[in-house]
Amino acid sequence: MSFAAFGLSEEIVRAVTERGYTTPTPIQQQAIPAVLAGGDLLAGAQTGTGKTAGFTLPILQRLSYRSEGSAKGPSEGRPPIRALILVPTRELAAQVEESVRDYGKYLKLNSMVMIGGVNINPQITRLKSRVDILIATPGRLLDHIQQKTVDITKVEILVLDEADRMLDMGFIRDIKKILALLPKKRQNLLFSATFSDEIKLLADNLLDKPAMIEVARRNATADKITHVVHPVDRERKKDLLAHLIKQHKWTQVLVFTRTKHGANKLSEFLEANKITSLAIHGNKSQSARTRALAEFKTGTLQVLVATDIAARGIDIVELPHVVNFELPNVAEDYVHRIGRTGRAGAEGDAVSLVCVDEKKLLGDIERLIKRDINSIVIPGFEVDPRIKAEPIINGRSGGGGGGHRGGAGQGRPGARSGGGASGSGKPSGKPAARRPAGPAGNSGPAAGRGAAALHRSGGRGR
Ligand code: AMP
Repeated sequence: MSFAAFGLSEEIVRAVTERGYTTPTPIQQQAIPAVLAGGDLLAGAQTGTGKTAGFTLPILQRLSYRSEGSAKGPSEGRPPIRALILVPTRELAAQVEESVRDYGKYLKLNSMVMIGGVNINPQITRLKSRVDILIATPGRLLDHIQQKTVDITKVEILVLDEADRMLDMGFIRDIKKILALLPKKRQNLLFSATFSDEIKLLADNLLDKPAMIEVARRNATADKITHVVHPVDRERKKDLLAHLIKQHKWTQVLVFTRTKHGANKLSEFLEANKITSLAIHGNKSQSARTRALAEFKTGTLQVLVATDIAARGIDIVELPHVVNFELPNVAEDYVHRIGRTGRAGAEGDAVSLVCVDEKKLLGDIERLIKRDINSIVIPGFEVDPRIKAEPIINGRSGGGGGGHRGGAGQGRPGARSGGGASGSGKPSGKPAARRPAGPAGNSGPAAGRGAAALHRSGGRGR
């Protein structure tokens, strides 16, 4: 099967071919015809499956079909925004917009990324010229709506990407406000990795007789990721990480910590040990995060240390190594983390440094992914049996320092998971409650209850 077989225009196929894609991924095989047909879509797909191209390519096709005029419209009487893609994080917004620009480079369509954490004025200026496709985080879009600097009343296609994350981050009220301003007649595409009751409710209200698509979760199928656990004492994790990086001569490693403070401390430790490293998390400025990501992608930075939500949207082709310096509090996050490696069929490995405090978390993860993870003790880093387990309080990080999960500047009031990189940069109004750990939390397809369990199509506006 080739991209040309979908009936995509020569310009789109050329851009995709130049990107190096030859065969559509399973989600693309199903999503592209469904979106081209013009109906609503409910897709169960997580990052790493090729979902971005799955919705971007047919959107470009549909919009270019009837697009007229030059690429740069005058500020008066300019064409309206025709597609709106809402995403949970700034990084993902930038990533999606890059894809839109790349796949659409031979078309006369203009895109814009609209995110919080940066000066709003350049965005206001940009909005005065032509924008066909807007990729936004909900908070900042709402800021523009309130300031009347954006008009979304002519949107033809709406995408909610990583809808589960948007709800986790407390964006539901913002999303509802945005939906109320969109024209009634439009095409809606909802992508979510998991299907909680909240997502089902949103889908029921939003989608009109949607096509249902679900692709197997990466961890549930024959994936090419090698999982390994290295048991180690809490205080020796940093040394073990430096040892592994040096011994294996790893050049591009994404390391996850549970807390922002832990990420900073670990990054400083690695730098002190002559391993180039930067931390990204919600307390860093947008420009610092963008710079770190760019250096990591080009290979000048050996190690990127990230907290969970800050890492959403990181897309590095064939990222070879992901290290869980600390296991996540929520087992689902393990799947999101390792989704960064072995992307689109490439091989990768996921290494977890596990101390005595984290035994229960490891059990939760193994239950979720339905397999035992191979445990290998690294000589010189054997576990001291005299060290007793200590409770992991509010994200206290073994060897990495204190701090807490969640924090300022993320999501919207009422966010469930806290922490991360949201659109608005506004502080949460109340402390973020934790999601329950383990498979019962927010699991959908992983627990065998995917989009297939959602065979109810809701009338719009119910
Ligand atoms: P996504 O799930 O959209 O984040 O995409 C995951 C990764 O797969 C990205 O690095 C894409 O560039 C890559 N990708 C998307 N579609 C294809 C394809 N048809 N063939 C190979 N790689 C792809």
